[in-house]
Formats: sequence, structure tokens, C-alpha cells
Amino acid sequence: MTSRAQVKNQQPLGYPGTWYASTLTDHRVRPKYRGPSKTEIVVIGAGLAGLTTALECLRVGKSVTVLEAKRIGWGASGRNGGFVVAGFAEEVTHLVKSVGLEKAQALYGYSRMGVEYVREQISLLDPTLMTGQGVIGVSRHLASADFDQERDFLRTYCDHEVEKWNPQKTRSVLNSQCYFDALSDPEGFHIHPLNYVRALGREVERLGGQIFENSRVDRLVLSTEIKKCWIGNEVISSNTVVLCTSAYDRQLVRAVAGAVLPVATHVAVTEPLTRKTNPILTGSAIADTRRAGDYYRMVDEGRLLWGGKITTRKRPPRRLAAEMKRSYCATYPSLQEVNVDYCWSGLMGYAVHKMPIIGELEPGLWVATAFGGHGLNTTAMAGCLVASAITDRDERWRDFSHFSAQWVGGPLGRVGVQASYWLMQLKDKMDERRSRMRLGNA
Ligand SMILES: Cc1cc2nc3c(=O)[nH]c(=O)nc-3n(C[C@H](O)[C@H](O)[C@H](O)COP(=O)(O)OP(=O)(O)OC[C@H]3O[C@@H](n4cnc5c(N)ncnc54)[C@H](O)[C@@H]3O)c2cc1C
Repeated sequence: MTSRAQVKNQQPLGYPGTWYASTLTDHRVRPKYRGPSKTEIVVIGAGLAGLTTALECLRVGKSVTVLEAKRIGWGASGRNGGFVVAGFAEEVTHLVKSVGLEKAQALYGYSRMGVEYVREQISLLDPTLMTGQGVIGVSRHLASADFDQERDFLRTYCDHEVEKWNPQKTRSVLNSQCYFDALSDPEGFHIHPLNYVRALGREVERLGGQIFENSRVDRLVLSTEIKKCWIGNEVISSNTVVLCTSAYDRQLVRAVAGAVLPVATHVAVTEPLTRKTNPILTGSAIADTRRAGDYYRMVDEGRLLWGGKITTRKRPPRRLAAEMKRSYCATYPSLQEVNVDYCWSGLMGYAVHKMPIIGELEPGLWVATAFGGHGLNTTAMAGCLVASAITDRDERWRDFSHFSAQWVGGPLGRVGVQASYWLMQLKDKMDERRSRMRLGNA
């Protein structure tokens, strides 16, 4: 199986060659850092965590400078699947085991607050950023009882209504023999993430914040009163620093870098599908429930955006386009003739507990990181919590203190995660095979 050789991978204006970068609505490049030498708050990293924190500090009148090593949204925030949906990288039922029901309910509530925050910003800043409503979680094996349990848990304990679909209904919307039951969440939605990041950036500047691109912070010098961020030979001082560098920084604060495991995942965008070949008969986003499953949705011009696979290798596979094509054809054989136009990889930051690390590491040094593959809503709520802690001594961030920065095991940790991913894949394949055998189509 081959993919079209000329995958569009130019790097438009310093962004990776994603479909998102090729559909940017604003191309402005921000300057490199050139002062002021002092400010109240410095935010390091202009992804969704950094820009939301900056925006919420500005909204209550603080002065904020954002320093970004590359371009705003250059990291995971500008190249993800675009799904905005409640929850965390860790499942809520696992949270009940680790922190108890009441705290798990509160945490789930924060994750929904993040969803609503993104919805509000979009309606305020640019409603065209919303690309579709609804997120469908679909199973590749018979999962009726599990989905009943999950739906009932969300209804009873989280006041969140999701709808369960049987295999017949699922396959009437997603024309694939691979799928069985589904849970449809009407509250979730999907967006153009890079244009959203850029809309946040423009709002930060409208409120008087400064954003510098191509301004990597190489060194942090911390004292109780004053924090100094060094960008090459330039320095900026502030009372408060917020670290939002995710998996793209391995050195600024050792305890944080060592607690965030970089995990890569990949996305492909196909050439436009014709109505005849399109087996996806919904405008909602879809994610399968395997431990590291596929996630996809239709985007403009009738293209399929297909994400999936994880690896702890930081370099993308050499034949990424072909691998991604193999992946969507395995689910939808009718897409054999549909080629990949764009493909790319990005790094997610994971903590050992699969929950975000949010809090004050020492007086005036804050961190919001490790959102894993569930960052669109959780960066939003983290940005709000950190900003309100800094500006109003709001203590709600302490609800996350159970999930501290713990060492993830360095290179050995990476090997361990890769091995457990392979094991998960094997378990998923066995589940799928068992379901097909039960239905007599193995
Ligand atoms: C391919 C992919 C698909 C995904 N799909 C989804 C999805 O559909 N839904 C969902 O909820 N989540 C998804 N995620 C996860 C989500 O995108 C991330 O959790 C979230 O964007 C993390 O945001 P962030 O601001 O913490 O980090 P990032 O967006 O990675 O931003 C960190 C920024 O810090 C900058 N930086 C690093 N070091 C320095 C330094 N020393 N000085 C200055 N700047 C620095 C980097 O350049 C970068 O711009 C996906 C992730 C990937 C990679």
C-alpha cells in the first residue's frame, strides 16, 4: 500500500507542515524578546496552558509577558486532534480508586469547566473556530455492559448525560465492521486548535499582554522575591513565573522535566473524500476506546483527519503517511484509494499518574503541565485555576496536589511505557478477536 509521495510537509512560517498551519487565518509573526526588563508575571511556553493562564491574569489587570521558544501553538496545542471533551488522560473510575468518590467528582467537574471555558472563548473570540458538535467513543469489541456502567456512573455521580448506542446504531453512522457499541457525548465538540491558540494570543495582546516568539528561556534564576528568566543574553525579572513548557523542555526546572514523559502521537489528513467513498456519516468527532486508539473527524473540504498510535520515540516513523493510511484502511477498507495529503507528529507530556501537574513549586514559581492526550479542556481549567491562585489567592488548585511531580524514570521509564503500550495493543487485539468470534465473523 502506498501513500501519495508528495505529502505536504513544508514548514509554513516556522510551524510544522500540518493541515492546521496550511489553513491559518492569521499569519502574524511576533518579535523576539526585546524587553521590558521587568513585569509582574512571566509565562514560559505559549501553548494552550500558557496562553490561558496569561489571558486570565490579564483579565484582572495584571501585567504579563509570554515567552515562546518557537511560534505560539507550535507544540501539541497547535497540532492536536481538536477534540474538546470532559475528562482527563486518567479515567474517572480510576480516580475514584486513587482519591475517593467525592474528590473524583470534583476533579471531573473541573474537567467539564475546561470544556465550557473553551466553548465560551470561542463564542467570544471567533465562532468559526468551532468545527463540529459531539464526541463519540466507540468500541472495537462487544462492550455493552461496560458502556452501561460508564453511562450510569457519569449520570449518577457526575451529572453528565451520554447516550449509549448498540452496534446496529453505531454502524449506521460509522460504516465499519470493526465497531460495536458506542457512547455519544453531545457536550463535546471539536475545533481548529491552531487558529484557537492564535485567537487567544490576539486577545492576550488586546488586553495589553506581550508575547515574544523565537524566545527560548535557557535559564531560570530563582530567589524568593525576584525570578529571572534568561533568553540568550537578555533577561527579564518578575515576581511570578508560570512554567507551561510541557514535553518540549527538558531542563529549566529539573523536578518538572523529570516528571514529564514525552510521548509522541501522529495525525494524518487525507485528500478530500467523495460523498461516495465517505463511510463516516457524522459531523461529530470519533475516538475508539482502545488503550491507545484511533481518533478522527471530518474537516473542511471533506478531508478525513485521522490520529493515532503512540510511541516514546521522539522521532516520527520514517513512513508515517503509509502507516497512517494502513491504519484508516484497516477500519474503513473503502478508503483504499484515498491518499494522505498531510501528516505530522507531536509530543504529549505524561506524568506517572496520568493527571496534570498543577501548583506552586516554591513561592512565585507555578507550573501547569502534563495534560497528556486530554489537554484541550484540562489546559483551560488549569490556566483558570493557576491565574486565579496568583491573582486572588484562590486555593482550588490544591485539589490537584495529590498529583505531584514524581520522577517518571528517565530513559528506563520510556522503555517501560513503550513495552506497556505494546502489551495494551496485544490485549486490545485479543478483545477484538474474541468479539468477532462470538459474532461468527472472525
Ligand atoms: C497529535 C496530538 C493530538 C492530540 N489530540 C488531542 C485532542 O484531540 N484533544 C485533547 O484534549 N488533547 C489532545 N492532545 C493533547 C493536547 O494537545 C496537549 O495536552 C496540550 O495541547 C498541551 O498544551 P501545553 O500548553 O501544556 O503544551 P504545548 O502545547 O506543547 O506547549 C508548550 C510550549 O512551550 C514551548 N517551550 C518549551 N520550552 C520552552 C522554553 N524553554 N522557553 C520558551 N518556550 C518553551 C514550546 O515551544 C511549546 O510551544 C493531542 C496531542 C497531540 C500531540
